[in-house]
Amino acid sequence: MNTPLIAITSDFRQQKYELKNEYVTAIYAVGGLPIFLPYSSDLSMIQHMLTCAHGILLSGGSDIDPYLYQEEPIPALGTINPERDAFEIAFVQAALDQGVPILAICRGNLMLNVAAGGTLYQDIYYEHETSIQHEQMAPRDHVSHSVEVKSHTLLHRIAGSDTLRVNSYHHQAIKTLAPGFQSSARSRDHIIEAMENPHHPFIVGVQWHPCSLIPTQAHALSLFQAFINAANKYAQE
Ligand code: MN
Repeated sequence: MNTPLIAITSDFRQQKYELKNEYVTAIYAVGGLPIFLPYSSDLSMIQHMLTCAHGILLSGGSDIDPYLYQEEPIPALGTINPERDAFEIAFVQAALDQGVPILAICRGNLMLNVAAGGTLYQDIYYEHETSIQHEQMAPRDHVSHSVEVKSHTLLHRIAGSDTLRVNSYHHQAIKTLAPGFQSSARSRDHIIEAMENPHHPFIVGVQWHPCSLIPTQAHALSLFQAFINAANKYAQE
């Protein structure tokens, strides 16, 4: 029985690292061992982190500095976390070079796109026509909107469905996809809700929070199982 090590990125506020427990329980639920990543600006230290990990889980959090995709901040931009942005941009770029499996969630999905060369809507209500609520007021495990899953994608094979119901806690979204990535799900307002890299066995990003949906939505558990399977395979190579 293999236990792959899954490195999870965390938030940093007032000199404290923070991570929602649901990321930990999701990784334990599928037989992985979650480990945490302290920030470092030392690229050789980042390489050591990547050598230990069999999978990378990019967690959710605050907005991403638009300077990282060559834009000026608009008034509707939310809180940014410069320390976190600086670490993650370097870490994710190194992880992409390394070829380690990546599951990216919400902010993690946006950071994955930016690190790989894509851009974002700083605020979808300001920059994109939408009549869908993407910052739900409902409880975290409530599936508030639907997404259409593109056929012949990894996400479609994992979820086994053309339509999924998901939760939604974002006001930013992908504007242009990073080179080499493709959209794998969209909401009805055409927002990209999931993406993947078809040139890699498992680099998947979702704009929703599957951790909170594991008890009620089969597609959420399937996503984590597929991620752990990819991490196991990577560990054996
Ligand atoms: Mn959404």
